[in-house]
Amino acid sequence: MSQYWSDIVHTLTPYVPGEQPKITNLIKLNTNECPYGPSPKAIEAIKAASNDDLRLYPDPNGDALKDALAKRFQLERNQVFVGNGSDEILAHTFIGLLKRDKPLLFPDITYSFYPVYCRLYDVNFNQVPLNDHFEIDIESYQQPCGGVIIPNPNAPTGALLPLDKIEQLAQQHADVPVVIDEAYIDFGGASAASLINRFPNLLVIQTFSKSRSLAGLRVGFALGNADLIAGLERVKNSFNSYPLDRLALAGSVASVEDEEYFDDCCRRVIATRTQLVAALDNLGFSTLPSAANFVFTQHPDNNAASLAEQLRARNIIVRHFKQGRIDNFLRISIGSEAEITALIEALTNILKK
Ligand code: PMP
Repeated sequence: MSQYWSDIVHTLTPYVPGEQPKITNLIKLNTNECPYGPSPKAIEAIKAASNDDLRLYPDPNGDALKDALAKRFQLERNQVFVGNGSDEILAHTFIGLLKRDKPLLFPDITYSFYPVYCRLYDVNFNQVPLNDHFEIDIESYQQPCGGVIIPNPNAPTGALLPLDKIEQLAQQHADVPVVIDEAYIDFGGASAASLINRFPNLLVIQTFSKSRSLAGLRVGFALGNADLIAGLERVKNSFNSYPLDRLALAGSVASVEDEEYFDDCCRRVIATRTQLVAALDNLGFSTLPSAANFVFTQHPDNNAASLAEQLRARNIIVRHFKQGRIDNFLRISIGSEAEITALIEALTNILKK
C-alpha cells in the first residue's frame, strides 16, 4: 500500500499468472504452452526482421497480419483486430464493448482474468454457475445482461460448446456483444469465426500462444463485424498505437502462412491428450472431457494440492486452483510424449505410496 497510488489501485486484485520458474530440467505443465517450437518459417521470419529497420516504428495497424488472418478466415481486413496477446485484446474488449449498465455474464468457473478486468474497468458482472457436469448451460444465460463472454473450450475445465450452442447464444443476445474467447479452439473445436457474417454482435478472440507455439511473442487477434472492430481500434489508439512490434508481426504472419506445420502440431497435441486421459483413467483419476491442450482431472482418494506438491518435488509443475468447487482438481497441460510419460510414471509412484 502506498500513499502515492491512485485510489483504484488500492482496490485491485491482480491476476496471478502460472509460474515461469527459472529452474532447468523442469517438466512444465502449468501454463498450457505448446510443447513444440513454433513453425521454423516463423523463426526464420523473425530472424530476417532483426535488422536496421528496428529503428523504425512498426506498422501501427498491423495490416500484414490482418490480411493474412482475413485470408485464413475468409473475412475482410476491417473484420480483424490484432493485439499484444489476447489478454490485451480482452482488456480492450472489457472497456470498449462490455462495460454497460446491465451486468456482463460469464461462468463462475472460467478464465480468472475476467473478474480482474471487471474490477480494473469497473464493469458490472454476474457469474453464472456451471452445471453439475462442469459445463456451460446456455439456458442459464437467458437473463437481462449487458453482454456475455465465455471461453470455448472453457478454461480450466476444457469443456467444449458445439457451434450450434454458440449460435443460439448469439441469437438469444442479439442486442448485446457476445464474446467467445477461443484461446484453445484449435485442439478439437469448431471456431465461431464462421458465424461472424451472420451475427453482428459476435466477437471471436484467438491467440498465437497455444496452437501456434508463440506465447513468447505476444500476439492475439479478434474477428468480428467491422463496427465491433472499429470500437476496439478506438480503444487501442487511446492506449498504445504500436501493440505489435516488427518481430511479432513478421513471426505471426509467417506462422499463419504455414498451415501444414500448424495442423501437424495440433494433431500431435490431440494424440498425446488421448494417451494422457487413458493413462490417468488407469490410475483411477476421473478427467473431464477436454477439447483443449490441457485436462482437468481429480482422484477420488488423493487431495489435489498434495498431488501437485508431490509432483513438484519431482520437478513436474501442474496447476492447482484453490477455489471452492474445483479445489480437488489438477489442470495438466499436454506436454510432449516424453513429458507425459514422465508425469504418469511420477503419479504411479506417488499413488503407490
Ligand atoms: N484466454 C484464455 C481462456 C486463456 O487461458 C489465456 C491464457 N492464459 C488467454 C486468453 C490469454 O492468452 P494470451 O494473452 O497469451 O494470448
